[in-house]
Amino acid sequence: MDGVIFEKLKILSDGAKYDVSCATSGVDRTNVGRIGNACAAGICHSWTADGRCVSLLKVLFTNRCVYDCKYCVNRRSADTPRASFEPSELADLVMAFYRRNYIEGLFLSSAVEVSPDDTAEKIYRCLRILREEYMFAGYIHAKIIPGVSPELLRRLGMSADRLSVNIELPTEESLRLLAPQKKIKGIFGPMKQITQTLAEQKTLKGPGFMDRLTPAGANMTAGDGSLTEMLQSRNAAATLPRSRYKERFAPGGQSTQMIIGASPESDRQIIKTSESLYRIFKLKRVYFSAYIPVADAPELPAVLSAPPLSREHRLYQADWLLRFYGFAADEILDEDHPFLDTELDPKISWALRHIEQFPVEINKAPLELLLRIPGIGTTSAMRIARQRRISAVKYDELKKMGVVLKRARFFITCSGKYYGGKEPDPVYIKNRVLRADDIRNGLTEKTLTPQISMFDSVSFMLGDGGANGLSVR
Ligand code: SF4
Repeated sequence: MDGVIFEKLKILSDGAKYDVSCATSGVDRTNVGRIGNACAAGICHSWTADGRCVSLLKVLFTNRCVYDCKYCVNRRSADTPRASFEPSELADLVMAFYRRNYIEGLFLSSAVEVSPDDTAEKIYRCLRILREEYMFAGYIHAKIIPGVSPELLRRLGMSADRLSVNIELPTEESLRLLAPQKKIKGIFGPMKQITQTLAEQKTLKGPGFMDRLTPAGANMTAGDGSLTEMLQSRNAAATLPRSRYKERFAPGGQSTQMIIGASPESDRQIIKTSESLYRIFKLKRVYFSAYIPVADAPELPAVLSAPPLSREHRLYQADWLLRFYGFAADEILDEDHPFLDTELDPKISWALRHIEQFPVEINKAPLELLLRIPGIGTTSAMRIARQRRISAVKYDELKKMGVVLKRARFFITCSGKYYGGKEPDPVYIKNRVLRADDIRNGLTEKTLTPQISMFDSVSFMLGDGGANGLSVR
């Protein structure tokens, strides 16, 4: 590979690693007389909806930015090496990697080099070379720069499989404080356009679909910056050899990313914002990115502080409850509980706060209620619902159906019998669950059980410390 291109690739793939819409492997091992090469060249792994793992080239088009978002490593004021691809350079690189079987697709994000439209136009040129000249039909995920013009967005959508507009921060207030050049209108405008275009696409089919869509910008806010001659012409679309690949606007839908921990919002605010985004813009995913302190600013956590990774993990679990388990944001957290429990996952935490709703009879509860039982997932809930139509489900059968009994047993009855040891008690259950988790994580019973001392209570010595609410942790 050309040394200059390789240098650009190193800089621009490093700059893209903070975007978490797909996960990088983080391996850096060069080839020394062996087969294969795991150098840090921006190749990351992403998972499809059906569980397949695909490798993507994850890279920025440019990291030269006219904006100065305080949390960002690529902000204008940061002292960092800069680079930009030419559209053809990046297209050639993608094809070279694809032909060597290094990647199956492209995840392309970018800073804002001159203006949102100027950068988006270059990205569009790159995608057009890939789709029209190289006839590349692989997966492309393109980031949409807030404030981009509706016409360019429409064209990018026709070239990419998935689009994403990053909301970045959970509230407008934080956006104003940390990314003053980004406007909420410039983020929601493109999101709204993508939602509307996807909805229209369902009703309009056949050749020339793109021209029959609502004229871009008819009901949108235009972005700043001007388009080139090519894009100013509404007839330009007709000159494209569009018949060469199937015309569809962003068939993979849209997603967004929110940074966690750079601003002071509670988990409740974050989940409520996610819920609104799913409802209003029909997003496929809201990704959470634990803020990695890269900038020294009074509004941000200290540079040496640790990224809130366990918080990010709990938020993903809460997001799962929103998307697959029928929970509302206000049920997961309320005003009295604005943050997720760091020790327990949000589902069991909710169940312990609503212990009066348990135990649930496994052979009678509606599917919506089965889904709320800790230890029962969507697959096992469906299996239970199917099986009990034929005959009553027995406790011994639950494990084979995928139920995690070490959790579920505290919240269910099976044909009237309770297997949780005693009446459901939140403190007792919490201790038992935490103890089971510790054992699963490699801590043995011996590690967990401290040496008995003469100051321990009699009940602990009798071995019922957990039952009496005495935690051994
Ligand atoms: S627009 Fe903001 S977040 Fe995006 S690259 Fe520029 S400084 Fe970073």
